[in-house]
Amino acid sequence: MILPALAEAESPLWRPVKYSLFPPLGLATLAAYLPPDTEIDLQDQHVETLHLEDTPDLVMIQVYITNAYRSYEIADHYRRKGAYVVLGGLHVTSLPEEAMGHADSIFLGPAEDTFPQFLKDFKHRRPQKIYLSTVRSLIGAPPVRRDLIKRERYLVPNSLVVTRGCPHHCRFCYKDAFFKGGKSFYTQKVDDALAEMERLPGRHLYFLDDHLLGNPDFAAALFEGMRGMGRVFQAASTVASVLDGDLIQKAARAGLRSVFVGFETFSPENLKQSNKKQNLERDYVKAVRGLHDLGIMINGSFVFGLDHDDRDVFRRTVDWGIRNGITTSTFHLLTPYPGTPLHQSMMQQGRILTENWDLYDTRHIVYRPRGLSREELQQGYEWAYRAFYRWGNILRSSWLHPSLRQKMRHLLYTGGWKKFEPFWNILIKSRRLSRMLPVLEAILETSSRR
Ligand code: SF4
Repeated sequence: MILPALAEAESPLWRPVKYSLFPPLGLATLAAYLPPDTEIDLQDQHVETLHLEDTPDLVMIQVYITNAYRSYEIADHYRRKGAYVVLGGLHVTSLPEEAMGHADSIFLGPAEDTFPQFLKDFKHRRPQKIYLSTVRSLIGAPPVRRDLIKRERYLVPNSLVVTRGCPHHCRFCYKDAFFKGGKSFYTQKVDDALAEMERLPGRHLYFLDDHLLGNPDFAAALFEGMRGMGRVFQAASTVASVLDGDLIQKAARAGLRSVFVGFETFSPENLKQSNKKQNLERDYVKAVRGLHDLGIMINGSFVFGLDHDDRDVFRRTVDWGIRNGITTSTFHLLTPYPGTPLHQSMMQQGRILTENWDLYDTRHIVYRPRGLSREELQQGYEWAYRAFYRWGNILRSSWLHPSLRQKMRHLLYTGGWKKFEPFWNILIKSRRLSRMLPVLEAILETSSRR
């Protein structure tokens, strides 16, 4: 089972620590369907050198858009050696014809229903070429094979996913393409999710769900079950879920200390064009204040290059983030991923500039923007990162919080994450990254005591 490194791994902007955060959970999830006596080698090229000289019976590769070419090379290599090679993941589902040329079987969509079927077919030597997921359920799924994960190589080994998909339909998002042909949002049973948490050591959890609060009943029951567990956790939510009802308060009581929020843009026209209805007419500042009042730090996500952006969008966005004490910001250049409605319309308008998938990393411009030139967009994006993470701005933003404890937490979290690259690299090289976990836990814990 192989997760090849993303193309960004060769970029001068590559930050090893950013790609040493989470273990390959998708592959470890599928590994659970293999018979317990199967000899499995789960390799993640982001944290180790791949060993490709073995002669396995079966090779499974997880394909994202920016590791697609690398995945295909590895697949071809093993097929030449006589192994049976299967490919799955977001990119395979978006472009099955492309992937098919490098695989014996491909998986379209999530594989919880199709992988067990494939294993039966493989055993009887009659595997099919294409496995298309239609039945969407996590009920009865076996526990993730965490024993295959090299925990010490990751900063956040306790990552987990308890839902699949998201209830929304943003036009730039991969989600609908991946879940085409069936349900695009479903959850585990609450008891199963709680049992998965019990298996994880330490206090910290990182939910990789697209939208942990997306099903309010499920989320409320989950947070209720987590009370008293003594966990601190990080997750993703929408602005709407922060503002509506009291779910976010329940999350905070269960241990939520930091949340990824897709603000994406301040322009109503951009939101409408992106079908990001859930953000329309929502008071972003109120959402931020509400989170800060609960002691929850914010990782804000912002997209540049939408059709109604102008030259001032970079300064406006960075200023807003600093003024509102956003702890970390993730900026993206708009990227029309194949299979999405955005890609379709850009194709129709003749705006796609390249189909070199290595460049579809949200750091390169791969389409013709409207409201500003390509140079302005690229330079503005790079400036936004530099400006947001300048020491002066980190200090200014940290000092906006009311209590000294909150100020210090913001400073430590943002400064530690963005300003100590050599330190992180030493930890990665010496395979001691996971030793920083108690520090992360301590910083997150601070946030609850304002
Ligand atoms: S809210 Fe996020 S995960 Fe859901 S469809 Fe929109 S971009 Fe995708």
